[in-house]
Amino acid sequence: MVEALALNQGRQTKAEASAKAAGMDTVSGNSGLQIEEALIFEQCSGERSGVDLPQAPEIQNHLGTLERTETLGLPGLSEPQVVRHYTRLSQKNYAIDTGFYPLGSCTMKHNPRLNEKMARLQGLGDLHPLQPVETVQGALELIDCLADWLKKLTGMPAVAMTPAAGAHGELCGMMAIRAALKHQGQGDRRRVLVPESAHGTNPATAAACGFTIDTIPVDSRGRVDVSGFKTKLGGDVAAIMVTNPNTCGLFESEIVDVADALHKIGGYFYCDGANYNAIAGRVRPADLGVDAMHINLHKTFSTPHGGGGPGGGPVVLAESLAPYAPTPWIVCDTEGRFKLLEHLEGATKHSIGRLRSFHGQMGVFIRSLAYMLSHGADGIRQASEDAVLNANYLLARLQEELTAPFDGPCMHEALFDDRFLKDSGVTTLDFAKALIDEGFHPMTMYFPLVVHGAMLMEPTESESKAALDQFCDVVIALAQKAKRGEADYFAQCPQHTPRRRLDETQAARKPKLRWQKEL
Ligand SMILES: *Cc1c(COP(=O)(O)O)cnc(C)c1O
Repeated sequence: MVEALALNQGRQTKAEASAKAAGMDTVSGNSGLQIEEALIFEQCSGERSGVDLPQAPEIQNHLGTLERTETLGLPGLSEPQVVRHYTRLSQKNYAIDTGFYPLGSCTMKHNPRLNEKMARLQGLGDLHPLQPVETVQGALELIDCLADWLKKLTGMPAVAMTPAAGAHGELCGMMAIRAALKHQGQGDRRRVLVPESAHGTNPATAAACGFTIDTIPVDSRGRVDVSGFKTKLGGDVAAIMVTNPNTCGLFESEIVDVADALHKIGGYFYCDGANYNAIAGRVRPADLGVDAMHINLHKTFSTPHGGGGPGGGPVVLAESLAPYAPTPWIVCDTEGRFKLLEHLEGATKHSIGRLRSFHGQMGVFIRSLAYMLSHGADGIRQASEDAVLNANYLLARLQEELTAPFDGPCMHEALFDDRFLKDSGVTTLDFAKALIDEGFHPMTMYFPLVVHGAMLMEPTESESKAALDQFCDVVIALAQKAKRGEADYFAQCPQHTPRRRLDETQAARKPKLRWQKEL
């Protein structure tokens, strides 16, 4: 008891110190019902345990000098302590289930609960990836059915289902392009064209595949500068990587011209399909001349994401790239039985091989297919239209006080720059921090790089007009506050969070990844 009290006091002093640092003036360091949460290792003593374990039997040591000499150092807590710790941590997480999440280029849309129910169905929830194929025919059929929807929606003849996320899909597509070029004796084509507005994963992927990156400019309309692009064409060009709608939230209106010119010189068109939510059911990428495109299932088809996964990044492929798709391939024989082609022989002899273990992200596949089937083709089309409508509503309302870099309507996300903050002493970062105090997750900041102090907002189709108005009211009021010269207020934000502004450079350069006992 005395020991527990002492521990508690020790913790409070530490909490108090960090609370002071965070500008909180309560004795405990807690704020309202938000509790200062110490690390689990700091909440306990290693000698205690929440469970009664029997005395370990005498065992003969076969580890020689590798035997552990110190205690393991695991935290010892009771069940209620553990439950509270993890529940509190989960409450510190801002999520699409707790509030509006206007993070541009991320498509944070509602995750229907029906999807979750389907993923937990017996026979799906308890599948094991090593089960014999005869026992998982339904699961393979489900993947095949999802593949079929993706092919129909995009108009493409083939799809590689295994990539685990968008960036992984890019890797898949660029490896297929590299393999196709090599097979045609064109392996010395090394140059990949990437617009300067591209997501960082595009040039990173091309570089990882051994290509060199040649940047193409964006014009004053926020789109690929077509004449600039044409001057870059030559016999050493392997591919172009274009996002459409692009990262400025705009449709690349001259994309068919771009694709034609590229195909004429023997290059491939890789489309980054992360923004497919704006056009699904309305535009078929095949009709735009796309040769390969990943689809972020976790964005467009509503599966949960954030915090690094899990996601799904199937890649639809043109006829010319289909032979290079990664294994395993799911095929259906004449009797309607599904099997997996896993070896590089016969139909799969040109495949780039495996990109990951097993057959793909099954839980994400189930949720995506549930989303598609529950919406139907007309519902998917309406979701795209409503996403675009909502973004244009934000653009129209916020243009009263904010400044938009490009004229005309947008697709699924509205982009602003920081001209409206000129001479106010307030930066895009300050503005985002002030939004946190107002209870809103900030928009995407400083991306795309082609726009100064960018603020990229994506409302998605699942937000109501009331939710959008609440957000707009706050953003407009903050913009007016900034223009009134209240820079000091913004410099103090956020004031109501458990932590204020972090030294993000230090956190990135010298992350503390392991807890170490203070001696
Ligand atoms: C999200 C995104 C990616 C990367 O996708 P992940 O699934 O996060 O790997 C690539 N490009 C664009 C434009 C994106 O928005």
